[in-house]
Amino acid sequence: MLNLDETYLSHELREFREQLRRFIAREVVPRAHEWEAACMLPRELYRQMGELGFLGLAIPSEFGGTELDARGALVFGEEIGRSSFGGFAASISDHADMAAPVIVRAGTQAQKNRYLPDIASGKRILGFAVTEPGGGSDLTRMKTSAVRKGDHWILNGQKTFITNAHSADLFITIARTDPESKGASGYSIFLIEKGGAGFTTGKQFEKTGWCASDMSELFFDNFAVPADNMLGEEGRGFYMLMQGLERERMSMCAQCVGMMERALVITLEHAKTRAAYGRTLWDLQAIRHELAGYASELSAAKLLLYHAAQKKDKGESVRLETSMLKAKIPDMLKRMADGCVQIHGAAGYMRGTEIERIFRDARPFSLGGGASAVMLDEVAKLL
Ligand SMILES: Cc1cc2nc3c(=O)[nH]c(=O)nc-3n(C[C@H](O)[C@H](O)[C@H](O)COP(=O)(O)OP(=O)(O)OC[C@H]3O[C@@H](n4cnc5c(N)ncnc54)[C@H](O)[C@@H]3O)c2cc1C
Repeated sequence: MLNLDETYLSHELREFREQLRRFIAREVVPRAHEWEAACMLPRELYRQMGELGFLGLAIPSEFGGTELDARGALVFGEEIGRSSFGGFAASISDHADMAAPVIVRAGTQAQKNRYLPDIASGKRILGFAVTEPGGGSDLTRMKTSAVRKGDHWILNGQKTFITNAHSADLFITIARTDPESKGASGYSIFLIEKGGAGFTTGKQFEKTGWCASDMSELFFDNFAVPADNMLGEEGRGFYMLMQGLERERMSMCAQCVGMMERALVITLEHAKTRAAYGRTLWDLQAIRHELAGYASELSAAKLLLYHAAQKKDKGESVRLETSMLKAKIPDMLKRMADGCVQIHGAAGYMRGTEIERIFRDARPFSLGGGASAVMLDEVAKLL
């Protein structure tokens, strides 16, 4: 597989990757089947990962984090994706790499002091609640409202398909605070603490994949949020969310790359050892070419991903690169996962095999965080 370490990753980042890889092999892979059956990660896992500094990648050291650059976030995403447990990767990245950066970007010093240390240590779990039943791709359709009453905002509305809905203690959410506004203006972001009158979660959704991450709806019925818990400027919430999109897309693509590398490794191993026609599957040119093609496409995609991260670390915009990547990498993963199941034969379609899980867990990446079609629209705007 293409090795980009020398060109793109510092010694420290490679060390970080080794530590995380060892942790995942030791603590995650052997136990994740139980978490999949329970449809939730154990709280203890967050504490363990927090203690080892794995949850603070977006958080500055003054708040207990390890603040990594964009290439560090790539390494993190690749390793949690390589675990091949999409639910583990989804819940952990939602907490550490999607929701936490919003507080880092938009929070006041007091908000950061109050929340970030517990997020970095894994004491409190975060969720990111944006999508509503009326639509997820077109976010200007969000109907949740917040009305100011004294020193509180009163929230009414519903969020859906929320990862960590049951396990999280805190949510980043968004509501319309200016009832007269239209389109993208007039939304504000809130950091809400779970519980209290007017806050309920729905029944757990049964997903096809990403089974170890819990998911449900959130309902706000005259739910009072302290005014101090607004994040960033009133009325600018939509634009603030948009500022995190490049990071979010890179993170999801990095998880896909990790998952593709794992799919390729186990399928190469299978092809080279599976006896057929007095030889092995690998001796069939069609199989060799298919796997060589996947390795080539994956390498090209990975190169663009690393290039984008390096550019972001220099402070440049990577809107075009991240839109291209998010438009194509999840679809590449789905195609490759399907082809790898084929090479494994019937065994690859059986529950409990790794490639079967990769096949199921590949699917959501092209739905969430910007559907492929929406990403292609983004690319087209920039051409
Ligand atoms: C496993 C999983 C986890 C999730 N976790 C979270 C979470 O933690 N927090 C959260 O807020 N949301 C979460 N979501 C929701 C996710 O963000 C939305 O599913 C996504 O934004 C798409 O919205 P939608 O499902 O309403 O689809 P819609 O907006 O109804 O779109 C449906 C389909 O229409 C097509 N489409 C949409 N727009 C266009 C266009 N412009 N051009 C052409 N075709 C288009 C696409 O194929 C798209 O998939 C999660 C979803 C999944 C599957």
